[in-house]
Amino acid sequence: MSNTDFALAVEDLSVSFDGFKAIDNLTLYIDRNELRVIIGPNGAGKTTLLDLICGKTRASAGSIKFNNTELTRMAEHRRVRLGIGRKFQTPSIYENLSVFQNLEVSFPAGRSVLGALAFKCTDKVKARVQAVAEDIGLGDRLDIEAGLLSHGEKQWLEIGMLLMQEPELLMLDEPIAGMSARERELTADLLKRICRNRAVIVIEHDMDFVKRIAHKVTVMHQGKILAEGPMEQVQADPRVIDVYLGH
Ligand code: ADP
Ligand code: MG
Repeated sequence: MSNTDFALAVEDLSVSFDGFKAIDNLTLYIDRNELRVIIGPNGAGKTTLLDLICGKTRASAGSIKFNNTELTRMAEHRRVRLGIGRKFQTPSIYENLSVFQNLEVSFPAGRSVLGALAFKCTDKVKARVQAVAEDIGLGDRLDIEAGLLSHGEKQWLEIGMLLMQEPELLMLDEPIAGMSARERELTADLLKRICRNRAVIVIEHDMDFVKRIAHKVTVMHQGKILAEGPMEQVQADPRVIDVYLGH
């Protein structure tokens, strides 16, 4: 496989903060429709890697290609338009708006300044909102004020807001933190559905959850990749046990 076939190709990527290398010459390839999980101890550089891919942080060196388009010097909003969606650790939903409205405002054309044009799209937007709401398990909660949702439902709503933009790469940083066992199960099912149409990168610490969803696991340590492969292989790797799983 040539490296033009990947959804995402990260090559020799580095970033330094005041001389400290948070990402150190890292190379990583993600297939189309792959669900990759990144694990590793706190401070390994996992969140920083997502920051570099979405454009929140600029790389010091190296390259990030998305569908063969070089992203490294591209502004964050242009990366969103190309199809990169990023969910941060803390949910950023509009608590005072309904579930429906939260999804509606996330529809790309909904941001049009031309009111008439937006109006013409209403049926299309409604259909998309309904479809996404079903997908995230909130199909019968559309009229509820988002602030009244459970913690898990808020996380799903935020995933839904990203899905409204039909991203080709979706990145989620610790999406199940604070969720109940049942919500974790439903989130695993949701992520498996989502990756049928796109590549997904998930950072997670819960190994049962990782086992359930990962196609492949990347283990990061000190800004580098320590190990990569199927869960069983990574779990049995003495270096991984030593720096992460053994703790
Ligand atoms: P992880 O998500 O794996 O826990 P992070 O990517 O958050 O790790 O952090 C990796 C290292 O980079 C940490 O030592 C952190 O303090 C440092 N770091 C991350 N972002 C910044 C920043 N904007 N400025 C300075 N240091 C940072
Ligand atoms: Mg982190």
